[in-house]
Amino acid sequence: MTNGLTARQRSAPTLSFEFFPPRTEEAERQIWETIDALTAYAPSFVSVTYGAGGSTRAPTLATVARIISDTPLSAAAHLTCVGATKEDVHAVIDEFRAVGVRHFVALRGDPASGIGAAYRPHPGGYANAAELVAGLRAIGDFEVSVSAYPEKHPESFDVAADIDMLKRKVDAGATRALTQFFFDNVHYERYLERVRAAGIGIPVVPGILPVHHLAQVQKFAGLCGATVPQWLADRLGPLDGQPDERARVAAELAARQVEGLIALGVDEFHFYTMNRSALVASVLDQVGFERRENTARKTAAGAAA
Ligand code: FAD
Repeated sequence: MTNGLTARQRSAPTLSFEFFPPRTEEAERQIWETIDALTAYAPSFVSVTYGAGGSTRAPTLATVARIISDTPLSAAAHLTCVGATKEDVHAVIDEFRAVGVRHFVALRGDPASGIGAAYRPHPGGYANAAELVAGLRAIGDFEVSVSAYPEKHPESFDVAADIDMLKRKVDAGATRALTQFFFDNVHYERYLERVRAAGIGIPVVPGILPVHHLAQVQKFAGLCGATVPQWLADRLGPLDGQPDERARVAAELAARQVEGLIALGVDEFHFYTMNRSALVASVLDQVGFERRENTARKTAAGAAA
């Protein structure tokens, strides 16, 4: 599917960056430095996650509000419906709307007791992400993105059930899917074929996770149904005591993954930044994404002072 151009010669694919809301002063400082550094890559939007059981409602709101007021970026708020009545969810949507949010990443979420605990819809709430998407679309003319799982959601019976759920979310009004992270592009390629065969035409944007800490990623991948291939563990595992070399190799591996996806025709990428800029910036530089130094932009880090 490659058209013979190198990554550098193509028209630039679009980017989005995902952050989580900071909980400490140090984390606060770090996220604004990160947002400031990554603004140079002119992402089409950035998103801020929402904690399990609504546990980060206030910090998510504060972070998104500040991105909208202090930076030139377009911000999407993640929103879950787990453990909440519809009235609760609507109150949250109103708060986000009041600070200027027009784009939601609508998710079912995991129980507050943790990933893997049995999910029970709130009796007065939205039962799943598809219902939440419909609720959002009934309330306002929002852009709504949703999740997708190239290696299957751990609760799904099979990939077909997963794709049925994606279709329900699209039928309810979702216009973009952001995938769970994966490391072997073949998972994405096969998944996309099945998604398209099911008549789903929306962009399915690969979620890219440059690996900061292998053990953490292995643990999280185990919980959310993603595979960490042996070749990746073999490359990064021995570098645990050499942070610079580990970062160099991690960036190189993620850059190769992105280039592989570009060769498949992918033109939109969602980066799980872990609120750190260096690794993501290194990946983007290696692939040939341009930095656009915009002197007119407000600097998020500067505004933090
Ligand atoms: P859905 O799309 O409703 O379901 C996902 C899949 O699980 C479906 O395909 C369906 O087949 C299967 N499934 C769901 N329920 C059942 C059931 N009862 N029985 C059998 N199968 C079932 N979590 C957060 O808490 N906050 C966030 O900000 C957040 N951001 C995310 C961003 C992205 C891009 C992704 C990929 C995930 C994110 N998550 C977040 C994680 C997400 O909340 C969990 O994966 C959750 O378990 C499912 O939510 P969902 O919206 O994907 O669910």
